[in-house]
Amino acid sequence: MESSAVSSNQQIVIAIDGPSGSGKSSVSKAVARALDAAYLDTGAMYRAVTYSVLAAGTDLSDAAAISQAVKDADLAISTDPDLEQVLIGGHDVTTAIREPRISENVSAVATNLEARAELVRRQRQIIAAHPRIVAEGRDITTVVAPDADARILLTASEAVRMARRGLELGGTQSAEQLATQVLARDAKDSTVVNFTQAADGVITVDSSELDFEQTVAAVLDAAGAGTED
Ligand code: C5P
Repeated sequence: MESSAVSSNQQIVIAIDGPSGSGKSSVSKAVARALDAAYLDTGAMYRAVTYSVLAAGTDLSDAAAISQAVKDADLAISTDPDLEQVLIGGHDVTTAIREPRISENVSAVATNLEARAELVRRQRQIIAAHPRIVAEGRDITTVVAPDADARILLTASEAVRMARRGLELGGTQSAEQLATQVLARDAKDSTVVNFTQAADGVITVDSSELDFEQTVAAVLDAAGAGTED
């Protein structure tokens, strides 16, 4: 990025939502770097508490036990776009939370409304502590930070999203496993948050036909922070 329309000491909160495989994590990190801003991966928070719930052997059908486990979770997450780190009880779970067993069970936590309320509260605290931040997830534009300076829904076609997630997982997953991890998970998540249609005032960026750099540029433009011509 040569020059940005947003000066580097100006406060800016950018909220980005999107489905699995939309590329929102890598795009949001690049946007944060371009703006010298912090970065919050709220999906990693849901994944981390899911790790904790599974590790404790909590019954996934016991809503009260799940919400209590989330309230009790000692969770720390890096907001540096160049340092991916998530700790549960001081234990580094950064890699473990990306395993398919977490992706397959995370909706049990994400559809628990008390657990969501607790994570939304923590996410707002983190955002409030960082005047310049890019926060991404499923409900950032609508619930966590509806007053953000820029609100963007990053989408891509189903075929493109499945292919991207497959690449991320190193080609280890069958088409059926990918469909479970991407489409079935989104279908479950959609029962509690709407991240398939942009709410009023939210700008949609469709990355199906864009490469990575073009998507980052489109998001920066949509945020009013694009590179000047
Ligand atoms: O973005 P990622 O795929 O890592 O998110 C993992 C899961 O966390 C999602 O499938 C969804 O269940 C949940 N999530 C959520 N709200 C957010 C972010 C993630 O419900 N803001």
